Amino acid sequence: MLGSLRSIVQEVNSARDLPAVLRIIVTRVKQTMTTDVCSVYLRNVKKEFVLMATDGLNVEAVGRVMLTKGQGLVGLVAAREEPVNLDQAEAHPNFEYFPETGEERYSAFLGVPIIHQRKVMGVLVVQQVKGRTFDEGEEAFLVTMSAQLSGVIAHAEATGALVDIHSDAGPTEAKFMGVAGAPGVAIGRTVVAAPPADLRAVPYRRCDDIEQEVVFFLEALAQVRANVRLLGDELANRVNKEERQLFDAYVGMLDDASLGGEVMDRIRQNISAEYAWSEVILEHVTNFQSMSDPYLRERASDVQDLGGRVLAVLQQSNQKKIVFPENTILIGEELTASMLAEVPAGRLAGIVSVRGSSNSHVAILARSMGIPTVMGAVDLPFTKLDSREMIVDGYHGSVYSDPSRNLLLHYQDIVDEDLQVVRTLESLKDEPCETTDGHLIELWVNTGLAADAVLSLERGAEGVGLYRTEIPFMLRDRFPSEEEQRQVYREQLAAFFPHPVTMRTLDIGGDKALPYFPIEEENPFLGWRGIRVTLDHPEIFLVQVRAMLRASEGLDNLRILLPMISAIPELEIAQMLIMRAYEELVAEGRKIALPPIGVMIEVPSAVYQARELAARSDFLSVGSNDLTQYILAVDRNNTRVADLYRSFHPAVLRALKDVVDASHSQGKPISICGELAGDPTAALLLMAMGYDVLSMSATNLLKVKSVIRRVSLIDAHELMLEVLALPDTESVYATLDDAFKEVGLSRMLKPIVPINR
Ligand code: PEP
Ligand code: MG
Repeated sequence: MLGSLRSIVQEVNSARDLPAVLRIIVTRVKQTMTTDVCSVYLRNVKKEFVLMATDGLNVEAVGRVMLTKGQGLVGLVAAREEPVNLDQAEAHPNFEYFPETGEERYSAFLGVPIIHQRKVMGVLVVQQVKGRTFDEGEEAFLVTMSAQLSGVIAHAEATGALVDIHSDAGPTEAKFMGVAGAPGVAIGRTVVAAPPADLRAVPYRRCDDIEQEVVFFLEALAQVRANVRLLGDELANRVNKEERQLFDAYVGMLDDASLGGEVMDRIRQNISAEYAWSEVILEHVTNFQSMSDPYLRERASDVQDLGGRVLAVLQQSNQKKIVFPENTILIGEELTASMLAEVPAGRLAGIVSVRGSSNSHVAILARSMGIPTVMGAVDLPFTKLDSREMIVDGYHGSVYSDPSRNLLLHYQDIVDEDLQVVRTLESLKDEPCETTDGHLIELWVNTGLAADAVLSLERGAEGVGLYRTEIPFMLRDRFPSEEEQRQVYREQLAAFFPHPVTMRTLDIGGDKALPYFPIEEENPFLGWRGIRVTLDHPEIFLVQVRAMLRASEGLDNLRILLPMISAIPELEIAQMLIMRAYEELVAEGRKIALPPIGVMIEVPSAVYQARELAARSDFLSVGSNDLTQYILAVDRNNTRVADLYRSFHPAVLRALKDVVDASHSQGKPISICGELAGDPTAALLLMAMGYDVLSMSATNLLKVKSVIRRVSLIDAHELMLEVLALPDTESVYATLDDAFKEVGLSRMLKPIVPINR
């Protein structure tokens, strides 16, 4: 049954819409379990379970039979949230008879709940005429099936909320949930960003000129046909007859009259060649995948491969440049830093990514740019939402496509209010960050893009606590040379002079990949990342350090920070390499001051050795983003566990406090440069813990300053002690909420206007 399970899931994954998904499930499950009936019931908005698809019962009953939770056997499965397996269904007290289904003949009943994100969204049922108990293996199969399909059904349901793209009726508002990635609200028009040659990520676009589109398509087809033929000729002597025939079959498939014909029919319905092609290919892939002959089933991947080749040619030769509107909302499956960089300056208003979570690096980048962002919008049918009006609510993690006028007005009010708050805060730019009882704390910024410097200085930043050097590396197609790096670093150092600039050595791996230096690992966050990569490649490390040191000549405001240190020898080797680079430069006659060298505290081992690390370095800086993920064992990039990623978890808070004490015990300053520092509530706690510097996205700086200026260190200290004694995150939130309400600061914490939706 395992093989069938895989092939059913595969088939369902390629289905186009909810009815197709359900149709595949009922027919294939019925077939695999050799039973008489398979049906799916789904929960509607009124929380009734409606028969949505069946293979075996009367099809007229579809959409008509509805049961509430607890009603009938289906309702019982939903209420109990576990399988119900009966050999004499009619004898069960919950049995309810619906004449329109014709189910009186079926005695055996096995129903399992379909659960998505902890909610029962439906029930999957198999039935059989003869009284029979479905055995344990069958029950386990159905449970596995349901668990695997729940996400696909949820996704298809959400997609179905949109109007069919081929219909003439206008689009209707639809809401999708994700997690808040960067605060703020954006209203704009979508542009789909997709990786090249990915058949499942092609945005639905219409074509303006049908005849021109047909010509364009035929040319691409001819080009791939010629390439495949050429490949076939080259391999002619090396492959056997059957394989040679396979090549000929491919060339045949690329015939104008074969796949090409189907695509042209769709282009004639005004659909772009790229979308039409991907649609046709995916349909054929599904057909091949559902074939019972294993040889033919295998051919699905050949069709897919061929499809990808033609798509790549179509995309390469498509001269029409993507138009980025004034208020671009960039949407896509997995957005990357370079995709953001493609949007012309000033046009990027909002971001929505199907994958990732609030601590993915794209979200961090978005926060530093002040772009409202929603991450992990898993049900967003992004390919069908190109060039549509969209609202991105980066406070609540919600997204609305084709919003109604009322909703637009509602959100426009929030945008206006936000603007007002920013203007009010601007007056604080040159004020010190000082509590009411005279305690001063420095607010620095995290940077990475050249544009960050301007915004940071406008907001009154007193230094850079984290310059993420990997960002300029990510925006290129090869490692930058020493001189190229020197110029980029010099710009940062000069922009902030005389303030200090903390440059972190290259921190790649995890979810930060360089396009020209791919690292593929099973467990990337526990693998080759940060200092581990650069110590294994001293040539990269030395060039970078030399570039930093040379850039600081005459300015002397550089600090070097080492990421992902998990053991003392890593620090010692890095220090030794830095000294080597320094001595080389001095020997070359350059007058450079040796910069302070600091250690990032990002992993539990560094927390426990903070004292030793502080003793051997010049400063510590906590990376709370990684520290949270490693203390809680929650992948910061995984949407499924995004709810468990909590920097206010008591274990994280206690680690943060211990690290400050360890650093100060060695007389060394300590800063924090994770996202937590930019949260006004956390900032108060961190200040009270004793952090010397808080480093954050420039967009949060004035908000944090305004909160700190309104409290006393004594009160913050008392609050911190109270919070550190609490047992769970919920009580931490509640205590902080109350404290902020008491001093009238809750306005700084939450989105401005409550939304009752
Ligand atoms: C951190 O981990 O908190 C940090 C600042 O580094 P990054 O987010 O770039 O991994
Ligand atoms: Mg980190």
